[in-house]
Amino acid sequence: MHRRIKGRLVIATHNSGKLAEMRELLAPHGIEAVSAGELGLDEPDEVGTTFVANARIKAVAAAKAAKLPAFADDSGLVVDALDGAPGIYSARWAGPNKDFNAAMARVERLLQERGATAPDKRAAHFVSALCVAWPDDHLEEVEARADGTLVWPPRGAAGFGYDPMFQPDGHARTFGEMTSIEKHGMPPLGLGLSHRARAFVKLAEICLDRR
Ligand code: IMP
Repeated sequence: MHRRIKGRLVIATHNSGKLAEMRELLAPHGIEAVSAGELGLDEPDEVGTTFVANARIKAVAAAKAAKLPAFADDSGLVVDALDGAPGIYSARWAGPNKDFNAAMARVERLLQERGATAPDKRAAHFVSALCVAWPDDHLEEVEARADGTLVWPPRGAAGFGYDPMFQPDGHARTFGEMTSIEKHGMPPLGLGLSHRARAFVKLAEICLDRR
């Protein structure tokens, strides 16, 4: 049986961008979001080997510490020709300075080394895993992906991370060339293209009341 989220929810992130995005998404459902940072909770090590496992580690730690239901996400870029890299290490490839130009250049160098120059050899997808954990160990988990092709050179200054080199299937522009409404936008305003938007729609179906 799926369980609905009611009242207060801890957002297990210390990233203010993610927190703001989640607050916006949850507000119409009557959910009050408090952040792990505001509650002074520690950040656990992400030692899982999958996106879902890492989302679960963060959500369970926050739910236990705060004694409230807690939400966490984990995401990344999976490149077919690189056997799934950078995958769960997507953030780490940017190094301590969060240099995503360097991370994108590393992806491109490895693709070149493997002869992946034609578009059909450059398939990739973003993954978003979401987990809600309750203090009594109940879990709700969803995962969604957005498929596309990696382009070089990167295009566009919008978005973050690997957005400028990711062109979603069926579109001529990269995520870096799209407004956030186009990239993540929830229907009916946006296209609901992004992995995160798709995962959130799935979670809302099973865990959130419509307002
Ligand atoms: P985490 O989910 O905070 O562990 O970080 C995931 C990493 O994956 C981010 O730092 C980005 O590098 C990458 N990533 C995840 N989602 C996106 C996206 O929508 N656009 C571009 N990069 C993304």
